[in-house]
Amino acid sequence: MNDEDRLRYVRVIVDRAIHRELDYSVPESLAGRVGVGSRVRVPFRDKSALATVVAIPEQSEAHGIRPIEAIIGDAPILSEQLLELARWMGAYYCCAIETVMRSLLPQVIRRAEVGWKKQLFVQPARNIAQAEFEKLRRRAPRQAELLEAISKLENPIRAAELLRQTSFDNQTLRALARRGLVALRDQAVVRDPHGDEQFIATSNLVLNEEQILALDEIMRSFDVPANARPILLHGVTGSGKTEIYLQAIRAALNRERTAIVLVPEISLTPQTVERFKGRFADAQDTVAVLHSHLSEGERHDEWHKIHSGRARIVIGARSAVFAPLKNLGLIVVDEEHETTYKQEEAPRYHARDVAVVRAKIEKCVVVLGSATPSLESYHNAAIGKYRLVTLTERVDQKQMPLMRVIDLRQERRKEKKATILSEKLSQAIAHRLEKREQTILFLNRRGFSTSLLCSNCGEARNCPNCSVALTFHQHLLHGGFSSPKTMSGRLSCHLCGHTAAVPKKCPACGQDALIYHGFGTEKVESTVAQIFPKAVVRRMDADSMTRKEAYRETLQNFRTGKIDILVGTQMIAKGLHFPNVTLVGIINADLALHLPDFRAGERTFQLLTQVAGRAGRGETSGEVFVQTYTPFSPSIQFARHHDFAGYFQQELEFRERCDFPPFTHVILITVRSAHEGRAKLSAETLKRRLREALPEEFILGDATAAPLEKLQGQFRFHILIRGEAIVRLSRLVREALDKLPFPEDVTVTADVDPYQLL
Ligand code: ADP
Ligand code: ZN
Repeated sequence: MNDEDRLRYVRVIVDRAIHRELDYSVPESLAGRVGVGSRVRVPFRDKSALATVVAIPEQSEAHGIRPIEAIIGDAPILSEQLLELARWMGAYYCCAIETVMRSLLPQVIRRAEVGWKKQLFVQPARNIAQAEFEKLRRRAPRQAELLEAISKLENPIRAAELLRQTSFDNQTLRALARRGLVALRDQAVVRDPHGDEQFIATSNLVLNEEQILALDEIMRSFDVPANARPILLHGVTGSGKTEIYLQAIRAALNRERTAIVLVPEISLTPQTVERFKGRFADAQDTVAVLHSHLSEGERHDEWHKIHSGRARIVIGARSAVFAPLKNLGLIVVDEEHETTYKQEEAPRYHARDVAVVRAKIEKCVVVLGSATPSLESYHNAAIGKYRLVTLTERVDQKQMPLMRVIDLRQERRKEKKATILSEKLSQAIAHRLEKREQTILFLNRRGFSTSLLCSNCGEARNCPNCSVALTFHQHLLHGGFSSPKTMSGRLSCHLCGHTAAVPKKCPACGQDALIYHGFGTEKVESTVAQIFPKAVVRRMDADSMTRKEAYRETLQNFRTGKIDILVGTQMIAKGLHFPNVTLVGIINADLALHLPDFRAGERTFQLLTQVAGRAGRGETSGEVFVQTYTPFSPSIQFARHHDFAGYFQQELEFRERCDFPPFTHVILITVRSAHEGRAKLSAETLKRRLREALPEEFILGDATAAPLEKLQGQFRFHILIRGEAIVRLSRLVREALDKLPFPEDVTVTADVDPYQLL
């Protein structure tokens, strides 16, 4: 046997998009410590690069194999199951596996630059004889005093904390250490974002009959996880879904399994975290929380807490679906219809769908919960791929609120201008104010006026970078959390953030004829405040909530009744519980309906249903007013009657007729460039190549200007492809893209199962 044969090899994916796996050899000194899922440093071209080991081949055909340089960390950081998931994602989402890795492993773990936080701890070094102590007291009384305090400690204490508590200074402490009387030691401390909070332990509630049936269904899946179907839990808001998740997680833990709970980022509120931390408060560290506001250090610590097996439940937003738990028993995707589960940058994955695939790989149970399931999931239940479990009633037996549709066309005829508050909605608010009950007014559009128009020449003030009108804001808050600087009366682009001063005269024709057109939440707020001068009105949207604390403050004030009327965008549509809200007004239900998007109807239906869920959660039942110019549109009518089944059926019929999801899969290709001609030409060339490459079964659209033609200075063209065999389509598209040399200033992206069609 020659030396060659004893060499071991590893196959790795380097952290660069090279679309290829590479082989390296393993020096003997490292051989025992490397395995599939290990992170390693390897020579790459003329530099070093970080890489992930994806296989241990027996031998390698590659030429000029070089040895790996180092192993990062002690243990493999990716399980075989997660690697398999990564491969599936690459194939399905039409992207390189290196790109998938970027989402799968947090940057702080990939780079391995941030480590544990070390802090200085103090403890007595040895026993000290009385005589020695007396000597110290005479020479250095302060030191003696501090030593006395330290010698009373039972456990090591953080130096900083000791000094803060005792008012001694650092010098005195250091002097004691130099004398060898106290020991100072660096020790790792866990950065826990919820470390200073107390969670009150709660126990299982007694389930009602519907809940029992739902939980039974999940329990049965625990017994045969390998062939269990995903469970779609369809239950109105307040029907007790979360209580079912909590009990199912307990069951998973009892079986020595672990669990992931995905919630949309926006509903990852302190309330939600508290509910989970509280239920599992018996064992500290059991629940890890992952979301986008963690510091790098906190993310590092939470990740290791999960990876090491200390945390057994992970609750988090989208990317928590990749949490490195072992023995996964259950994945819950709450509000599975939420579009925030879709990542809008590569890899453009949908966390719900990834959850379903991960569950299959890990042989675990997956529960998708929603009050308004997505058409995709509902369809999967209808054809038997998922199991549908329904909760029909609120736990508190409350009736669903009464929904009244107000025809804005009639209002317009009466008033001769666009209505903000119809007479009926106005009266309803007045009525609530009298009874000291609260109102929420919802409008999915920020700002004061949607546009600034010239009544002489008709020109609107558009964003120079995007093909949209600038929105007029009376009070535009700018800057980060720390230094908001208020600008009064400016125009702003909601897509790229460009702002401009309000011109006195029309820059196009020079006439003093500028008028404000359309309205947003800011205008609603000021109108309502004018009509009800005695009421306390507050607004909650991305403009008014630039400070982190502002959000909590406003909610707190609303909860305690200091605010009568809350105006806001989707920020207030979701997940909030306010028992004293008995009226919800939807100022304009048509905003989403007229977007050029096949999901427009579905979104409107979901939004109305959710917003309506905010009304009447307490003792008094609620009322919802829906203002619309299209009162007979199906999404509004079905939502009004709380008729899910009816809505799904008619929407599915429409989708089937038009070959849209869930009956096909869609890939949306976007070609963009600052140079309009080059973007267009590249898109047209690509379309021709795709025509040659794709079999007839795939429906290939033309290269067309995107509905949002210009965005952030880039011209955009779309190609829409539809078909059933998505993995095959994905591969063909990938190959076509790889073959075509695009000009350098042209960017091409492929989005599989897209949610943004603009
Ligand atoms: P959902 O997640 O469907 O909105 P929740 O689980 O949050 O519903 O339940 C709504 C409210 O009802 C919560 O305050 C919850 O504590 C309470 N609740 C849930 N199940 C029960 C039950 N079986 N008995 C009593 N209260 C319950
Ligand atoms: Zn813009």
